[in-house]
Amino acid sequence: MTIDTTLLQDTALAFGVELGGEALERFDTCAKLLIERNKTMNLTSVTEPGEIVAKHFADSLSLIPFLRPLAGRHLIDVGTGAGFSGIPLLIANPALEITFLDATKKKVDFLAEVLRELGLEAHLLCLRAEEAGRDRAHRDRYDIAVARAVANLRELCEYCLPLVKPGGCFAAMKGPGGADEAAQAENAAARLGAVPVSRKSFILEGAGERTLLAYRKISATDERFPRRGGKIAKSPL
Ligand code: SAH
Repeated sequence: MTIDTTLLQDTALAFGVELGGEALERFDTCAKLLIERNKTMNLTSVTEPGEIVAKHFADSLSLIPFLRPLAGRHLIDVGTGAGFSGIPLLIANPALEITFLDATKKKVDFLAEVLRELGLEAHLLCLRAEEAGRDRAHRDRYDIAVARAVANLRELCEYCLPLVKPGGCFAAMKGPGGADEAAQAENAAARLGAVPVSRKSFILEGAGERTLLAYRKISATDERFPRRGGKIAKSPL
């Protein structure tokens, strides 16, 4: 084994997530692939097995108890990169229907390989989030949108909320600045038809302070959003 599976199992249990033998093997396979492929492509700056367990696997799993009360099984991981948080969520619960979205083709190709090696099924989407948000096939479709380390929350709301169906949720994974970002994103969330529903801050061993923020979309997204081109980043809501 490349990773300390006992440590991962214990950390997951602290989040109320039970990982069996098959799940632990899949996490190990995922770590091996990440380390191997990262030698030739820039997938992640986190490459040491202990760090992968804390910063990628455990951090992603911390979302599970937070998402539980929000309900819904069709999830989209926006700006998933090398598959975080989506891959750990899928390993922990293969019954989830997850769409992995990223604008970078080499990352989506890497994810196709990961899913194949893990023997897991999911949808892959190589597209910008704001393009997906204007596409009928993806707009107002998902029970839950999740995102980690993609953009400031104000921008992230405009990337993610159009993808969520009315009644569904958007969950952002943030670091120590999460509460400040939430205050600055109040207007963005409201204009995109969402209200804040929960917030949780905690210290994750080996990863530091984390803040999870959830919004519920209470009305369909206004036709003006998401905006095109660089407008979202240039003048965030
Ligand atoms: N969520 C992963 C990756 C974070 S890096 C993790 O936490 O490890 C940010 C990723 O978001 C990159 O892979 C980048 O290609 C993608 N990204 C940034 N803006 C995007 C957008 N507007 N649409 C789709 N993907 C985007």
